Amino acid sequence: MTLPTHILRSRGMRESTPNRPVIVSGKGAWITDSAGQRYLDAACGSGSLIFGHGDLALSNIVADQGAHLTIFPSGAFRVEIAERYAAALAEFAPAGFSQSIIASSGSDAVEAALKACLQYHSQMGAASRTVFIGRDASYHGNTLAGLAAGGFVSRRAPYARSLPEWPKAEVAREGGDLASMLESVERAIKDAGPTTVAGVIIEPIVGAALSAAVPPSGYVEGLRTICDAYGLLLIADEVMTGFGRTGSAFACSRWAISPDIIIAGKAISAGYYPLSAILIRDAVADQLTGAGGYFENGQTHCWNPVAAAIGLEVTRRLADGQLMANCQTMGDYLRGQITAHVSPDIVGNVRGEGLMIGFDIMHDAPARAERDTGVAQRFHRAALNHGLLFYPSHGGPGTTQGDHALLLPPLTLTAAEADWIVACLAHAAQDVMA
Ligand code: PMP
Repeated sequence: MTLPTHILRSRGMRESTPNRPVIVSGKGAWITDSAGQRYLDAACGSGSLIFGHGDLALSNIVADQGAHLTIFPSGAFRVEIAERYAAALAEFAPAGFSQSIIASSGSDAVEAALKACLQYHSQMGAASRTVFIGRDASYHGNTLAGLAAGGFVSRRAPYARSLPEWPKAEVAREGGDLASMLESVERAIKDAGPTTVAGVIIEPIVGAALSAAVPPSGYVEGLRTICDAYGLLLIADEVMTGFGRTGSAFACSRWAISPDIIIAGKAISAGYYPLSAILIRDAVADQLTGAGGYFENGQTHCWNPVAAAIGLEVTRRLADGQLMANCQTMGDYLRGQITAHVSPDIVGNVRGEGLMIGFDIMHDAPARAERDTGVAQRFHRAALNHGLLFYPSHGGPGTTQGDHALLLPPLTLTAAEADWIVACLAHAAQDVMA
């Protein structure tokens, strides 16, 4: 089937040319094109679809809630589903996060988190704190402030001159030097001028910018100590890692510290409705709303009842921990099988937590005489031909070079589906090396 396209080519849609396969449906981990070919979807809307495609109960909730009340009428009222969801979020969040707001995308949640941090300092009498420390390989969304806080070179490039020059610390990766990573954060704070810095924003496990880079143990605790010493808020962007993706409620639930603000998106609605959330530690929330004040942030779809109804069901389904346990087991299995069965000449440095799995696409295998920069694209195409969709990415600290990829399948993944992923990767690697 060939359809004319009126969709403007943009990030994520660059390959939507008329001769691409047309996807007509999805069920569980699988999507099917108009010619009947099936693909295992290990991209899942950048990790949103934790229960997979075609979940009738979730789509019925959208229809039912939409038929009753589809928008929050105004602050002159309370809405029961919004109240119930806020309570469920407080229950799902780490201890001490009893208040939140919701938004529609990870990007607008990041924006709101940065604003909450600025307003907090301003109300504390420190309005000079306007700078955010980010890291040199990270992604914090699509808005100008998100791009400024992030360190994704190619996504920032067209706008770089309009972005505030917020300092970047070294990103943290397993195997790196912990002391040097933490020193780079402290150096960035000192260079900016400690009284001008409002907060430090991190992806606890880096997503698209590095494909599942996990920090060494002690890193996040070290960051907390630095933030406390300089009076900064620590913001955890868990848009990709939160709501079960790494085998726990949040990636930072594994560590002995707590951030001040947690941003959630993607899996929070399992991909069935636009939804994100900003969870704010009680001491910070109390400051924002003290003396009858309020957080100066609002959007048309804030506390949208349909989003709240979907979000409520997602927290209900995750509550007993079974899906997250499956995610942990299947993640360990999948990483082990890829390492054992897929050629390391193409797929290297397999890493990640739970079902947030990353690997590097190797360009300079010993078998090839020269560095082959077309390999990533050929590998992606070959995997599709064998029936696997993964999330390809590129770049690293300060560079657009280097190819890597993420596997973000549904958390319901079975061993047979994991084996399918491994077989597709192994065959695609053989094709590329042939
Ligand atoms: N932060 C992180 C860590 C993300 O992975 C993303 C999306 N890839 C965002 C923010 C932005 O979320 P959205 O695309 O929903 O705006």
